Amino acid sequence: MRLMTRRQFALRTGQLVGAAAVTSQLEWLAACGKAAPKQAQWRALARRLRGSLVLPGDESYARLRLPFNRRYASVHPSGIAMCAGQSDVRQALEWSQEHDVPIAARSGGHSYAGYSTTPGLVIDVSRLNTVQVNEADGTISVGGGARNTDVYDGLQPHNVAISAGRCPSVGISGLALGGGFGFSSRKLGLTSDHLLETRLVLASGKRVTCSARENSDLFWACRGGGGGNFGINTAFRFATHPVGRVSIYDLAWDWRDASEVAPALQTVLLHAPDELSMRLGMGKAGGGPQAHRAPPKMTALGQYFGPPDALTELLRPALRAAPTTKRLIAARTFWQAKDYFFHTTPRDQFMEKSSYIIKPLSDRGFQTMMRWVERWPGSLNEDGGSMALFGWGGAINRVPAPETAFVHRDAIFLMAYATEWTERDTRASVAAGLDWIEGFFAAMKPHVAARSYQNFIDSRLPNWESAYYGQNLERLIQVKRRFDPGDRFHFAQSIPTRG
Ligand SMILES: Cc1cc2nc3c(=O)[nH]c(=O)nc-3n(C[C@H](O)[C@H](O)[C@H](O)COP(=O)(O)OP(=O)(O)OC[C@H]3O[C@@H](n4cnc5c(N)ncnc54)[C@H](O)[C@@H]3O)c2cc1C
Repeated sequence: MRLMTRRQFALRTGQLVGAAAVTSQLEWLAACGKAAPKQAQWRALARRLRGSLVLPGDESYARLRLPFNRRYASVHPSGIAMCAGQSDVRQALEWSQEHDVPIAARSGGHSYAGYSTTPGLVIDVSRLNTVQVNEADGTISVGGGARNTDVYDGLQPHNVAISAGRCPSVGISGLALGGGFGFSSRKLGLTSDHLLETRLVLASGKRVTCSARENSDLFWACRGGGGGNFGINTAFRFATHPVGRVSIYDLAWDWRDASEVAPALQTVLLHAPDELSMRLGMGKAGGGPQAHRAPPKMTALGQYFGPPDALTELLRPALRAAPTTKRLIAARTFWQAKDYFFHTTPRDQFMEKSSYIIKPLSDRGFQTMMRWVERWPGSLNEDGGSMALFGWGGAINRVPAPETAFVHRDAIFLMAYATEWTERDTRASVAAGLDWIEGFFAAMKPHVAARSYQNFIDSRLPNWESAYYGQNLERLIQVKRRFDPGDRFHFAQSIPTRG
């Protein structure tokens, strides 16, 4: 029998799950020519945990096995270790090594490509969600399972912040390990730029702490090298920044004016101080068979660390370009603004891609963008098909690219492409959406850099190693060889151990 390597299996799993294949541990073990752990061995793992081991057939299994992106709902883990502390993570890792069972670390479960699930053992740290502000030095200690909402809740009483994302349920682990941006990032930097220290359990079960002084190469890799690559992070400590009042804006225009407004918004961003953030959106709603025939929406959303009249002045080129159909420019506390922006989309099943834009987009670039948004073929998902330009630059770009593993330090925009669907959509409709997103991505190539955001991880991206990590890839491989020489932390797009 020809046996598969872990990498081949991970690749195959990644390809198959998109086509709704059921991947079970039996399939994996058969492919690898190995014997599955017996019930008694799973029970032995359960006894080693302070938390719980959830197995197929258990009451909570159906709920706990599901990834956020339901596109990967066909993956059935053989077990889910709901860890109650760092020692449970160690026990789960040691057990999986003893039985050669594949593993996936899971925090918020929001991996776009389903990389936090596996037919083997999911090691879930979501119960490690404590958040504590250290009054003495103003830093914040965060458990590896905390979500954005837990982090913000912990920070708010102290009026200090780190830059984090918009979606309340995204996990801090995945967010920070792959960079992490939000409406404060041009002012405060990426989530990973706030990181001072993190604790991990390695595949061997060894616990390590890393910071600028201790295991500094691993610390470098944990700031942008991506989740699931080196070990399981159980705790983080971040520097915080005082926050007070801000202004927010939420604007919309008629689609007929998009070709005037979008370049004007780019002008705004190119001349903006770090205090301004921007999400320029174009998208079509789905929901019914004819929903996508309506014209797309053209929107701009963001935050400004300053008063509303100064914000209005900054936005003037875009406000002058065409009359708005929605116009909110208003003062808020930082926390009210956070609540205003909190948003969870996409839901259900989706595919996202991303590109970095490092030169100002030409009119042709904007026209290509608009033409492709208009062409979205429709689905039964109300969120539909869309693209967003997230303003980059400011504090993000002031960190030299080699200083941390996060390499994308010269962009103007991060461009995200998204198509969403439901399980009620036909195969043809899903295929049309997937063709659309690949066609859109290909059409933008002349206008964007060949780089993508590692946290918008894209199972179909060719040359993903250089696209996510660029010049930092070689050093990441060195760190991987040192801290995970057996390549236990492995998935279709994990950092390789070979050069
Ligand atoms: C609705 C939505 C909104 C989003 N909004 C933003 C945004 O505003 N800004 C932004 O930058 N990104 C955003 N993202 C992307 C997000 O940053 C990534 O999907 C991130 O990886 C999710 O982290 P998680 O812990 O929730 O996911 P998970 O799926 O649990 O983990 C992601 C990866 O990290 C690994 N991992 C998980 N926990 C650990 C751990 N403790 N130690 C080591 N590895 C671990 C997993 O194995 C997996 O490979 C969004 C994603 C979604 C789905």
